[in-house]
Parts: sequence; C-alpha cells; structure tokens
Amino acid sequence: MTGSIEIDVAVVGAGPAGLAAALALNHVGAPTALIGPPPSGAVIGTGDTRTAALLASSVDLLKALRVWDAVAPHGAPLKAIRIVDASGDWFRSPDIQFEASELGLEAFGYNIANDALASVLYRRAVEVLPVVTPHTVAKIEIGTEGASLQLNEGQAISARLIAGADGRRSICRAAAGIGIKEWRYEQKAIATSFTHTHAHENVSIELHRKAGSMTTVPLTDANASSLIWVGATDEIDGLMHLDEASFAAELVGRLGGILGKIDKVGPRAAFPVSGLTADSMVGPRTALIGEAAHVLPPIGAQGLNLGFRDAAALADCVAGAQKSNRDPGARDVLDAYANSRKLDVLSRAIGVDFLNRSLLTGFLPLKLARSIAVRGLAALPPLRRFVMQVGMVPPTELPSLMRPIPAR
Ligand SMILES: Cc1cc2nc3c(=O)[nH]c(=O)nc-3n(C[C@H](O)[C@H](O)[C@H](O)COP(=O)(O)OP(=O)(O)OC[C@H]3O[C@@H](n4cnc5c(N)ncnc54)[C@H](O)[C@@H]3O)c2cc1C
Repeated sequence: MTGSIEIDVAVVGAGPAGLAAALALNHVGAPTALIGPPPSGAVIGTGDTRTAALLASSVDLLKALRVWDAVAPHGAPLKAIRIVDASGDWFRSPDIQFEASELGLEAFGYNIANDALASVLYRRAVEVLPVVTPHTVAKIEIGTEGASLQLNEGQAISARLIAGADGRRSICRAAAGIGIKEWRYEQKAIATSFTHTHAHENVSIELHRKAGSMTTVPLTDANASSLIWVGATDEIDGLMHLDEASFAAELVGRLGGILGKIDKVGPRAAFPVSGLTADSMVGPRTALIGEAAHVLPPIGAQGLNLGFRDAAALADCVAGAQKSNRDPGARDVLDAYANSRKLDVLSRAIGVDFLNRSLLTGFLPLKLARSIAVRGLAALPPLRRFVMQVGMVPPTELPSLMRPIPAR
C-alpha cells in the first residue's frame, strides 16, 4: 500500500503505554494516528505472560478514557502488600504488611494481565482513532515544521508531533538524536502465573531474598496469582529449563508454603533486569513515552504506571496547545512536557535502583539500615502511611486525566 496521511500527532508503538497515549491525545481533541503491530495476545493468555499492578491514578486514567468497564473484569484488587525478609540474615527484619485501608482506600490498585489490558485498549483505539495502522515505522525524517514517518509497507505519515512509545530500542528516540544511559544487573526475572490451594485474600507478597525479590500478585481467581521471580542470571536460566512439575516444586520450596500447595503453573517468560533512562524526554518534534524513555527493574510496580503518567502528561500539554490553536509539536509544548516529567521519572529510577541494590548488597551497614527502616515502618503507622503515599503518588501534581472523577 502506498500513499500519504497528514495528521497532528503520530503515536509510534501499540504497547500499553502507546495505546494509553493515543487514547489520551485523542480524548483531548488532537487528531491522532496509532502506528505499530497490534498487541501479541490478540487471544488473551497467548502472548505476554506479564501482569501489571496498576495504581489508583492509572485506574483513574482508564476510567477517564472510558475503558475501565471493559478492563475491570480482568483486574484483581490489591488490598494489602506484605513484605517478608527471606534474606536469611541474623538481623532479619520483621514481616510488614501495608493495608490500603490505612490510606482510606479500598485497594492500592488492580493487577491486570498485560494481554487483557492491551487487547481492550487496542479495541478502543480502533473504534475511536482516525488512523490505526498495524505496520512498523521503518524510517523517520524530522524537519522544522513536522516529521515524516515511512512505514514498512510503503505508506508515509506526516505529523507535527511524534509520541515515541516504541519501547526500549526506540527508533523515534534515535531519529530525534536523544542519547540514553543504560545499565544491567546480573539478574533476570521470570514472569508467570500459578494456582495455589490457599486463597490469596487480595494480598500481594514480596519476598526479599539475597538474589533478588520474588513477588506474588493476586489474580481474579482467589486461588491464582501472578509471579515475578527475580534472581541471579544463572538461577533464572536454570529455572527456565525445568519442566512444570520441577518448577512448581522449586516455587513451593521458595515460598515456604505461604500460599499452600501449587497445582498449575502457566507459561513462563524471562526478562533481563536492566535500567535505562533517556537523556531527555523530548527532541525535535518528538516526545518519548513509556519504555522508550525509561526502563526500571520489575520491583515496586512502577514501570507501566510511570508510562501511563507520561501519556496523561503529554495529553495535558497538547490540550493546552489545542485550545489556543497552536502547533502540538512546538518547542514550548515539548519543553512543558519534559519539565512535567523530569522529577517523577528521576525519583522512580533512583528509588527502584536503590531498592534492588539494597537487596543485593553484602555491605553490612546498608543491610542494617534497611532492617532498622523496616522495623520503624512496622512500628509507626504515620511513617507507613507516608511511605505508601510516596509509592502511590508522584512527587509532582497528577495530570488532569489521572485525577479522580468526583462522584455525582
Ligand atoms: C516481569 C515484569 C513485571 C512487570 N510488572 C509491572 C507492574 O506490576 N506494574 C507496572 O507498572 N509495570 C510493570 N512492569 C513494566 C511494564 O511491563 C512495562 O513498563 C510496559 O510493558 C512497557 O510498555 P511500553 O508500551 O512502554 O513498551 P512495550 O510494551 O515494549 O511496547 C513497545 C511497542 O512498540 C512497538 N514498536 C517497536 N518498534 C516499532 C516501530 N519501529 N514501529 C512501530 N511500532 C514499534 C512494539 O511492537 C511494541 O508493541 C513489569 C515489567 C516486567 C519485565
């Protein structure tokens, strides 16, 4: 197919962050094209093995975009988070449980399979966006008035703003000349799910082990949870080679019977544990969204929540330009976006990196400091509430589409 389309905004990448960005930009009135292969799990449960624990503000975004009713049946509420020190150190920290009710909330958020989330968002995008194309972008040329995106099928799209949501190897980022900082941990993470004989009671359990964290997150079935098992690269490679029964036996051993016996384990996928931050969230005619801008280790459920905040913040900046009939890709719009995201991204990247390294460290004073901090959290409800707020809410004001809709 050949031909050319002219549009205000082109969102590149139909992952969950790109889908949210395209819907948010369309919602504020910007004519938007979504470019990228549809989510792999067109049939739920066949693609991505990951789930995402979406915090309350991300749920509010889905409500504002009118997709929450379709997503909600796939989401399990997270009512509490229990942290267990499984390091085996002699000054082991006490178990600590954070309850959403301590913040006056019914749940911290909802755990949703990536496949289910992306399928619902993609269906909505096809319904409401003026242009949705399943092709990939092969080449981008950026000029002073706009950018031209050449698709692999020969079609071209001209846009005044590119929202680059094309993941960690972003072609949009490269075309805009934005550099990155990237680092690796000698770790990998397995994402899978399993069924268990004890009900999870909507409690997520984080086991802090020396080789990395191991987190179970409730699924909609009271006896099923998703699992993120972070460990040393060799350990995870070994676990990936085990058959289902042997993997289940290893899992029971590590969980120490916390969720009872394990019946079934779902498909497993391993992900490298790494970090990446773009040197800037913006470049000429380009704003970066989601993992194109930042990749964090999978602890603390921050990655996609951060990507959703990018999406909603860009929509705010573009809405401002739309209102006064200004160019959505103008430098001042891009600068406003970059400024609004800087502190949130930096603080999450530093926080998650510190948390991961503090688990891995053999440095005694740091381990002791962690243990003392956890004891303080266990004993002091105001401190616990403060930490929960920091984990839930960014250090800057929430974008408009993420503010709770007042009940009528
Ligand atoms: C084990 C694990 C557990 C996690 N758990 C959580 C959690 O509980 N909570 C949370 O908030 N986050 C979590 N995360 C992070 C979260 O999964 C990611 O942040 C999120 O999936 C990234 O979405 P994205 O849309 O930015 O990128 P991606 O999902 O990588 O999407 C990028 C898209 O761009 C497309 N693309 C690439 N190149 C092109 C091109 N040239 N043209 C067009 N399209 C292109 C790709 O096809 C893809 O669809 C977890 C991550 C891992 C690894």
